[in-house]
Amino acid sequence: MKVVIALGSNLGDREATLIDAINQLAAIITVVKVSTFHETAPVGGPEQPDYLNAVLIGESELEPTELLRKMQEIELAAGRQRIERWGARTLDLDLIAADDLVIESEFLTLPHPHAHERRFVLDPWLEIDSEAYLPGFGEVRLLH
Ligand code: ADP
Ligand code: MG
Repeated sequence: MKVVIALGSNLGDREATLIDAINQLAAIITVVKVSTFHETAPVGGPEQPDYLNAVLIGESELEPTELLRKMQEIELAAGRQRIERWGARTLDLDLIAADDLVIESEFLTLPHPHAHERRFVLDPWLEIDSEAYLPGFGEVRLLH
């Protein structure tokens, strides 16, 4: 199935962290497209450094929950610590959408509940897919 993954980093060598994460994702899904890296100001949460954000489109044979579990392993391997909610982190991987699936479980919500309001997700996504569509919310180019 087609999957859209958002990547973010605002601690350490952000660019190296994102490149490494993309390589690790490429071992579990087929990476179709990757956006450029966007420097963005943090939204909400405590005061923290700017982020480097990217969006990746891939083709996955894994179930979405299995994919998210593996994404969390990649986050942990990047040394991610959860000190504060919405606080700084070496790596954040969010599953934005998987086909047109709508899921609401404790572990996984699809589409990602905040994707529609996050420019740092929508902008890089549009960059690699001008016809991007967020299930339940509509065309991404109209969500700005
Ligand atoms: P945030 O990305 O909002 O800063 P976290 O990365 O700490 O927060 O994720 C918090 C929780 O969100 C995780 O435990 C995960 O199970 C849950 N979650 C639910 N839906 C998703 C999704 N679509 N993508 C990523 N995490 C999700
Ligand atoms: Mg996350």
